[in-house]
Amino acid sequence: MLSPRLRFAPSPNGRLHLGHAYSALLNAEIARTLQAELLLRIEDIDPVRCRPELTEALIADLAWLGLTFSEPVWRQSARMSTYRAALDSLRERDLIYPCTCTRREIQDAAGEARDPDGAALYPGTCRGKSVPEAPHAWRLDMARALALCEGPLTYIAFAPGGPDAVRAADPARWGDAVLGRKDVPTSYHLAVVLDDAAQGITHVVRGQDLDAATDLHVLLQRLLGLPTPRYHHHGLIRDEAGAKLSKSLRSEALAALRERGVSAGEVRARLGFGGA
Ligand code: GLU
Repeated sequence: MLSPRLRFAPSPNGRLHLGHAYSALLNAEIARTLQAELLLRIEDIDPVRCRPELTEALIADLAWLGLTFSEPVWRQSARMSTYRAALDSLRERDLIYPCTCTRREIQDAAGEARDPDGAALYPGTCRGKSVPEAPHAWRLDMARALALCEGPLTYIAFAPGGPDAVRAADPARWGDAVLGRKDVPTSYHLAVVLDDAAQGITHVVRGQDLDAATDLHVLLQRLLGLPTPRYHHHGLIRDEAGAKLSKSLRSEALAALRERGVSAGEVRARLGFGGA
């Protein structure tokens, strides 16, 4: 049996708010129950939106909440060569192709078709074109990728204290997803599966907003020969706690709450974790 490992993986593109606090505290609670290690991974692949001072602030906010993580803290910005190597291997297998389309062009060509995030579904405009001089992204050739997969694509969804459930993954609804961006040799999807595997993550606990992304992650794990962790996608803030929180409180940064004199214990208690 692999020793259980969880991770909290925030992106430092703004201050942490109660939704992040809930996710981090739930990770810590489940890690305790499973006697698992809990790791912190900074998902800072975006060179413009992710700023070092926001990473420092995020680490301080988590410490204020009373959370501790196993060392070392991983930073995705330091792992670009690993991501590039994975992208190269997918390219050698003809599983990705370069794409120069702008957002506008994709919107115009996609018509009504949408991916699970509500973004215009890429219609495959650049499929089959040769590598251009111009800056380009790299997209997964979804049809080729699916043709390589033998057997059903599934994963285990777990719920704290509840039974496991086998879920079927349907990655095709993402279309030819971006795996390498124009500015960095990865995208969220590629980096997250490589890092979950490299960090030995056995249980992924994250928000419901990433539920559909798991379908794509399961496909990438299959293509790259990586293990598939178990997944739990939690509601964005637990209902009973959410009902007690005013909307403004829900969107207020933890730092602002702290400055208003709210204690970490109160935040934990309001999110349903006790210990005021
Ligand atoms: N970095 C992502 C976010 O902050 C979370 C990634 C994940 O948990 O897989 O939304």
